[in-house]
Amino acid sequence: MVNEKVVRYLYKNQSLYQLINKIKLWPSRTGVLHGVKTVETKGNTMIITTHCGESFVVWNSKNGRSARWLRNRWCRKPCVKCKIPEWKLEKYSQTVFSDVRR
Ligand SMILES: [Zn+2]
Repeated sequence: MVNEKVVRYLYKNQSLYQLINKIKLWPSRTGVLHGVKTVETKGNTMIITTHCGESFVVWNSKNGRSARWLRNRWCRKPCVKCKIPEWKLEKYSQTVFSDVRR
């Protein structure tokens, strides 16, 4: 039995929408990491609804604050109400944001 850790590689240059759709986590401005329930695109913006019932309207920009926060993992405090499962946080912490597609 090999306890092998699965490392997920995500392409750095994808849109924020694609990123959120894969990770299903959202960093709020206060540094809290929310679990994402739904993501909806609307033109250049998207509407993110979290598991704790909050909605955010954000620009779908790959170089915006949230994209940067997600890539750099600056949100360390998971939302209590969202109840993000441990495996999801674990997977997120092991995700490698790469310039090269694997
Ligand atoms: Zn939340």
